[in-house]
Amino acid sequence: MALIPYDDRDGWIWMQGKMVPWRDAKVHFLTHGLHYASSVFEGIRVYNGKPFKLSEHNARLLNSCEIMDMDKLYSVEQLNAACFETLKANNIKDGYLRPLAWRGPEQMGVAARASKTYFGIAAWEWPHYFSAELRDKGISVKTSEWRRPPANCAPVHAKAAGLYMICTLSKHAAEKAGYTDALMLDYRGYVAELTGANLFMVKNGELHTPITDCFLNGITRQTVIEIAKQKGLKVIERYIKPEELAEGEEFFATGTAAEVAIIGKIDARVIPIGPISKMLRDAYAELVRG
Ligand code: PMP
Repeated sequence: MALIPYDDRDGWIWMQGKMVPWRDAKVHFLTHGLHYASSVFEGIRVYNGKPFKLSEHNARLLNSCEIMDMDKLYSVEQLNAACFETLKANNIKDGYLRPLAWRGPEQMGVAARASKTYFGIAAWEWPHYFSAELRDKGISVKTSEWRRPPANCAPVHAKAAGLYMICTLSKHAAEKAGYTDALMLDYRGYVAELTGANLFMVKNGELHTPITDCFLNGITRQTVIEIAKQKGLKVIERYIKPEELAEGEEFFATGTAAEVAIIGKIDARVIPIGPISKMLRDAYAELVRG
C-alpha cells in the first residue's frame, strides 16, 4: 500500500517558482482543474537522490499541457531545476516527485481560456509501491468493467487527471474483490494496461506487449523494451485479445511507481513467477540505481 503524503505535515512544496510550506500549499475552491479535471501530472522516482529519466518526464508533462491546451510556463530545464530544488528542500534520497500543472480559478465554466496555468511540485519518501511480499509472490489483477477510451474520445496520450477517473473506479473494484490492481481492456476489447502501469506477457520466450494507441506509452515500458532487446529478447508490440492471455507463461507490469512488478494472478488463474520477468525486474532495478 502506498504511503499517503497527507496535508498536515512539515515539508516544502514548490509552487510557481517559490517554496511554500507543505501545510500552506493550497488552491482556491474555484480552481478549474478541480471542477473540470483540467490538470496534468507526472510521477518520477528518485533513487539515491537522482531522479530517473527526469527530462523525459518533464518533457511529457509539457506535452500533456500542449495536448490539454494549457500554457507551458516553464522549460524542461527549469522544471528539472525545480525538481532538484524540491528534493533538496525536503531532503529526499529515495522517493517520488509529483509535478502537476493545472488551470486556475480565473474563469469558471467549460471554456477557460482566460484561466492561468499553474505549476507545482511535491516530493516525498517512497521506497516501494508494493510490499516485499507482493514483489516476491507477484501482484494479482482482476479484469475491469471499464475500458480505455479511443483517441477521439479522450486525450489518451496526455497524463491527464480526467483519464484516472476510470482507473480509480477499476482499482477500487479490484481491491474490493481482493486483488491488487485492475487489468483494463480498451474500447475494442483488446488487452490494454493496468490502472497505472503497462503490461507485458512472455510467450515462448518472447515479450508481447499491447500497442499503445489509446493509452500511455510509459517511460518504464520504453526502458524495459530497450533492456529486453539488449538481452537478446524479441519484443512484439501487437493487439492482444483477452483470451490469448491463457497462452502467456509469465506476466509483468511496468510503471515509474510500480517499477517492474511481476503478476502472479490474473482473474482466477494463478501464474508461477518466471525467469524472464525476474531477470528484467532485476536488470531494471540495477539500471535505475545506476
Ligand atoms: N499507464 C498509466 C495509466 C499510468 O498512470 C502510468 C504511470 N505513469 C503508466 C501507464 C506507466 O508510465 P510510466 O512508465 O511512464 O510511469
